[in-house]
Amino acid sequence: NVESSIPEPQRDAWKKHTKKGFTTKDEFEDETVRHIETTLARSLFNCDELAAYSGTALAFRDRLIVEWNKTQQRQTFADQKRVYYLSLEFLMGRALDNAMLNVGLKDVAKDGLKDLGFRIEDVISQEHDAALGNGGLGRLAACFLDSLATMNYPAWGYALRYRYGIFKQQIIDGYQVEIPDYWLDFNPWEFPRHDVTVEIQFYGWVRKYQGENGKTKASWEGGEIVEAVAYDAPIPGYKTATTNNLRLWSSKAASGEFDFQKFNNGEYESSVGDQQRAETISAVLYPNDNLDRGKELRLKQQYFWCAASLYDIVRRFKKSEKAWSAFPDMVAIQLNDTHPTLAIVELQRILIDIEALEWDEAWTIVTNTFGYTNHTVMPEALEKWSVPLMQNLLPRHLQIIYDINMNFLQMVERKFPKDREMLSRVSIIEESQPKMVRMAYLATIGSHKVNGVAELHSDLIRTTVFRDFVSIYGPDKFTNVTNGITPRRWLHQANPRLSELIASKLGGYEFLTDLTLLNKLEQFADDKEFKKEWQEIKYANKVRLAQHIGNTTGISVNPKALFDIQVKRIHEYKRQQLNILGVIHRYLTIKAMSPEERKKLAPRVSIFGGKAAPGYWMAKTVIHLVCSVGEVVNHDKDIGDLLKVIYIEDYNVSKAEIITPASDISEHISTAGTEASGTSNMKFVLNGGLIIGTCDGANIEITREIGESNIFLFGNLAEDVEDLRHAHTYGNSFTLDPDLSRVFTAIRSGTFGDAARFNALCNSIVDHGDYYLVSDDFSSYVKTQELVDEAYKDQEEWVAKCIQSVSRMGFFSSDRCIQEYADMIWNVEPLVPQ
Ligand code: PLP
Repeated sequence: NVESSIPEPQRDAWKKHTKKGFTTKDEFEDETVRHIETTLARSLFNCDELAAYSGTALAFRDRLIVEWNKTQQRQTFADQKRVYYLSLEFLMGRALDNAMLNVGLKDVAKDGLKDLGFRIEDVISQEHDAALGNGGLGRLAACFLDSLATMNYPAWGYALRYRYGIFKQQIIDGYQVEIPDYWLDFNPWEFPRHDVTVEIQFYGWVRKYQGENGKTKASWEGGEIVEAVAYDAPIPGYKTATTNNLRLWSSKAASGEFDFQKFNNGEYESSVGDQQRAETISAVLYPNDNLDRGKELRLKQQYFWCAASLYDIVRRFKKSEKAWSAFPDMVAIQLNDTHPTLAIVELQRILIDIEALEWDEAWTIVTNTFGYTNHTVMPEALEKWSVPLMQNLLPRHLQIIYDINMNFLQMVERKFPKDREMLSRVSIIEESQPKMVRMAYLATIGSHKVNGVAELHSDLIRTTVFRDFVSIYGPDKFTNVTNGITPRRWLHQANPRLSELIASKLGGYEFLTDLTLLNKLEQFADDKEFKKEWQEIKYANKVRLAQHIGNTTGISVNPKALFDIQVKRIHEYKRQQLNILGVIHRYLTIKAMSPEERKKLAPRVSIFGGKAAPGYWMAKTVIHLVCSVGEVVNHDKDIGDLLKVIYIEDYNVSKAEIITPASDISEHISTAGTEASGTSNMKFVLNGGLIIGTCDGANIEITREIGESNIFLFGNLAEDVEDLRHAHTYGNSFTLDPDLSRVFTAIRSGTFGDAARFNALCNSIVDHGDYYLVSDDFSSYVKTQELVDEAYKDQEEWVAKCIQSVSRMGFFSSDRCIQEYADMIWNVEPLVPQ
């Protein structure tokens, strides 16, 4: 029992004064005004929308913290296994709207704010996105936190408290410009824990010494120390008191490190140098999505975060006074990609160097604790660290990695005695110049389960990157957990009217915690009244997006046109270039049409959005081409509403919440075999939009669930990619599709401005092997887009397809994923508050 550990008089005094958190409108106003007047030192006379937001957020934060405290006590006393989700990225977006909905007090806040003179929408939109991530991987982590709390799992997220999140994108003269995102100016959602600090060591050397019973022991010594300070953010579950924790580590100079000698000598500037160097560790999020750059500061970030998190986890475990062998019964750690792989090595180091366990005993604990989620098979994204770099920064860890590798290779040798090549193929150390540590192999060897994120992807990792490991460990170590999304944020919050309409038919909002209940909607796919309401909601969502486009770009788009949307990171493998080449083809085709033919066309708005990594020149060129095409098409009076091309600046989670509900069709058109899963594909379908896509990632399972007739699939299959690439490089009869050729001619003749700017992009497809197979899929893409045009004309049928699709999307809830992780990988039970 939580309470019985505290003597009665104190218990009663605490109980008497413990706030329960507001529930009525009056109490909400009370709390909000108190915060505005005292915490923020503002008054009725100078309270603007930002202050109203801050007061409201603080009122909600207080409420969450009360539940957070109780949840942590409950979980400590329950003494059961917890999950720790280690992710270098959490793309959380805004917190206030989500908190209001999850605790069920949005209406109370709406009425209360109205009394105080504010519209809730204006207040919500004051919040700065917490953009601690690049794209899908970070947003997945955020959806998982929502599901973990909603399903009452005792779970913590661990990440870094970057001072600068992903940069803000401005489009200036059709080019991406990056602006720093300093998001911490006022962040009411975090709690600094200045008492929770960990000293993190870097550099130095390893001292060997004789331990008890004559064994050689190792100790990591010298080097420098940086301090990690914890900042906590409460994560409320939906309709449950469970409020979990996201702990973010911030770096600062360790307390003894300030150089007072220098300071006293008047060398003020250099005396703060160490401090600044320490703070650099958690300063920035690396802005690369699916690309490994091997920079020392990034490795520092990874170790800093892993070491601080593990220290915290181990400290918590040690309080239970259980034997070390019980560690995997109390702790499950999930590695979101290879970024936290050093946690495996760090736990082994703690167990053997500090806790004095034998190697084998320690290694059994380690491997039973970790699970590893792979997110890519693309070579440029698979992390490797140079051995000399690691030797310098983490000398003891490198030794342990060599020992892990030696034990592993000996095991492989015993299993495959004659296969020398196998040894060099699977070694953690790549024998290159310089030698490299292959992090995906280390993560695989140090975990008890490895999972991919969609069926095709999990099959691909079993047959490509981890093929040898499947024969070494057997197939059971490798599994699949298809990604999912939280229906709370991505339906209920982003599309409240659709959520309400669905609830009205299903008799309540239970579908938000059991998304499979959506299947009861299918019976309404032919219901005229229902379809009409459905269409009205889609139209209203398109009007909202059209307003956003008008306000931000000055271009007026017709909400009655077909909205065709591709928003995601700009990457050659995601093939925004295929989309824009298709748009140019459409433009040229319309230009050549007679007025009669034009009358038959459904007007289209092609909408793009997404950030390019600042150093990814080709991706930036794609953005520039989209903007340049828009510049011409949008001002071509002869075209009018038939085609508009829009680039939405600074795509992020809060924009996604406006964009996703407004699509008629969205594009998920990666080169087959490259997109591990995708999650925006799920979000668009769940919001009543159809998708055009390749047979890649989760598109395949979406098709299985919603039916082939409800999706526009096109293009070559993953199994054909290798042969096609071979043919591009070595074949002798390559002819470009005439339609695509016409598109390139238009670009090269300057139709969209100075053609030189697009030379490299055109050449990459025409002359340089077309690695992403744009030319191979172009004609089937164009034909499939024509099918979209045709299908859109029959609105009755179109809406029926949308309704049927939504009704079959139950599988893609992140609650289902978390259930699978909990059962298959973590072996953890929920703890339901009484
Ligand atoms: N970026 C943001 C802001 C998102 O919200 C999402 C998913 O919704 C993604 C990226 C991932 O998109 P995709 O799955 O299309 O790569």
